[in-house]
Amino acid sequence: MIVDCHSHLFAYPGHLSEEFVREASARSRGVPMDLHVPPERHWNAMRNVDRVIVLGMRAFHAGIVVPNEYIADYARQHPEKVIGFAGVDPSGDNVRETLEHAVDRLGLKGVKLGPIYQDIHPTDRRMMEVYEFCEARSLPVMIHQGTTFLRKAPLKYSHPILLEEVALQFPDLTLVIAHLGHPWLEDTLVLIRKQPNFYADISALHYRPWQFYNALILAKEYGVLDKLLFGSDYPFTTPEASMEALRSFNKMTEGTNLPRLEEQEIEGLIHSPSLTDLRHSAGKSGRKFLELLGGCCRGAKT
Ligand SMILES: [Zn+2]
Repeated sequence: MIVDCHSHLFAYPGHLSEEFVREASARSRGVPMDLHVPPERHWNAMRNVDRVIVLGMRAFHAGIVVPNEYIADYARQHPEKVIGFAGVDPSGDNVRETLEHAVDRLGLKGVKLGPIYQDIHPTDRRMMEVYEFCEARSLPVMIHQGTTFLRKAPLKYSHPILLEEVALQFPDLTLVIAHLGHPWLEDTLVLIRKQPNFYADISALHYRPWQFYNALILAKEYGVLDKLLFGSDYPFTTPEASMEALRSFNKMTEGTNLPRLEEQEIEGLIHSPSLTDLRHSAGKSGRKFLELLGGCCRGAKT
């Protein structure tokens, strides 16, 4: 089974500020980006994956405000495949109200955070309220804890090590660090190695091939390949391009004695995590996360 655990849905104009779109396009090497991703476009792009997590996002500071209803409406149309995550911006939203509405009324299954986009420290009291809610309800959290192209987004809130305190205070919280916390990949790897319920996704890394190579080889050396989740970060790249990059991983070092990934390790990364490990090592929230990623896919190809 293939799960794309990192994808986006947003309408433009509507959910993104002009400034955000302008800066995103400037960083995509001058090629204008089409950031209008309505449900039909997203659905087509996901034809080769079995399940997909669609991330809501609310970040007033960065100019990204996707209504949770928009995510939930889409997820409701495809309950067998689409898993909707709620956005909450602790710097502007009432955390409890927003999350109760998103989870209890809209049926969303996890929460997306992005401190660098939300201009807030990841251990700010208001952020702790989110983790507390999610731990109590066994909801997985996807967190963008790494850098971004946006000029005004504060790097001081973006380092993955800042999340260690979260793991210690909320030991049963399942948390996924997006993009392996780039560029602090090594820091993310040592953090997820220490914390049983912390994971990372490998979305949107392959187009920096040297960084990607080093990250995955180091993940192997630290023994944490099974804590990495497959994702595309669609529309910034696609599931196909991400799979292709993994399958041609060893080409870069062909003819050398540099370390490689075995084919089964590569397929293990694509065919979703060895989350069977999660079943044994994690608590209630980990088991619920496992069910979420695979539970509705009984009968789908594995
Ligand atoms: Zn993303």
